[in-house]
Amino acid sequence: MSSMILEVRNLYASVEGKEILKGVNLTIGAGEIHALMGSNGSGKSTLSNVLVGNPQYTVTQGEVLFNGKNLLSMSPENRSHEGIFMSFQQPIEIPGVSMTNFLRAALDAKRKYLGLEPLGTSDFLKLMREKRAMVELDASLARRSVNEGFSGGEKKRNEIFQMAMLEPRLAILDETDSGLDVDALRIVADGFRRLRREDTSAIVITHYQKMLDYLKPDVVHVMMDGRIVRTGGPELADRIERDGFDWIKEELKEA
Ligand code: ADP
Ligand code: MG
Repeated sequence: MSSMILEVRNLYASVEGKEILKGVNLTIGAGEIHALMGSNGSGKSTLSNVLVGNPQYTVTQGEVLFNGKNLLSMSPENRSHEGIFMSFQQPIEIPGVSMTNFLRAALDAKRKYLGLEPLGTSDFLKLMREKRAMVELDASLARRSVNEGFSGGEKKRNEIFQMAMLEPRLAILDETDSGLDVDALRIVADGFRRLRREDTSAIVITHYQKMLDYLKPDVVHVMMDGRIVRTGGPELADRIERDGFDWIKEELKEA
C-alpha cells in the first residue's frame, strides 16, 4: 500500500489554446502539507484548477493518481467525493442557498457516493455546531446565503469551515490568505491546523511567509513557467522571503 495521496506525473495543460502547465511533477504523502510558491502567472492556480477538474482547462499530457486512482478520468463531483477540496482565490456566492442547506447537500452527496446513509438532522446540526465553533464562525453566517455579502475574512473562515465539514483527504488552499488582516490570517491558519485530520494533506498556495509560519509546511515547491523547478524544506521558503525568485531563474539559466 502506497501512502501517497497525490502523484502528478509530467502534467501538461492548456487554457484557451495556450499551454500553461509544461510537465509538472509532484508527489504528496498522506498527512503532508506542501507549500506551492512562485510569481504571479507561473501556473499555480492552473494546477489547482486542473486537479479539481475545472472544465476550462484541458489536460494534454501526463497523469494524476489520487489515492491510487486515475483522477483525470473522474468528474469534478466525484473528485470532491473522493476527497479533493479546493478553496478559491475568489469564493463563489450562491444567492438563495443557505450555508446549512449547501453543506447538507454536499455532505449527503458525498456519503451517498461512499455508500453511506445521509446524516440525520440532529447529527448534522451537531457536526455543524462543533466545526463552526472551531473557526469562530458566527452562527448567523451559517443561516445566510453562501458567501453572499460576506466580508473577505468571513468568506475565508467559511471556507475552512466547509473544509472541516467535508473532511477532505487533500485540501488545496489557493491564496486563502489574500485580503486577510493578521487576526483573520491567524484564525484561518489555526482553524485549518485544528480542523484537519491527521491524514489530511494540503497544498497551500501563498505569498505570505506569515501563513507558512503558522502552517509549517513539510515540503516547499517553487513553480516557474508551468513547472515545479525547486523542491525543498521550509528553508526554501525562508530563502524566497529573503531573496525572491530571481536567484532560481539565474540557477536555471546556468544549468
Ligand atoms: P498563478 O496562480 O501562479 O498566478 P495562473 O495559473 O493563474 O498563475 O496563470 C498562469 C497563466 O495562465 C497566466 O498567463 C494566466 O493568464 C493564464 N490563465 C490562467 N487561467 C486562465 C483562464 N481561465 N483563461 C485564460 N488564461 C488563463
Ligand atoms: Mg493564482
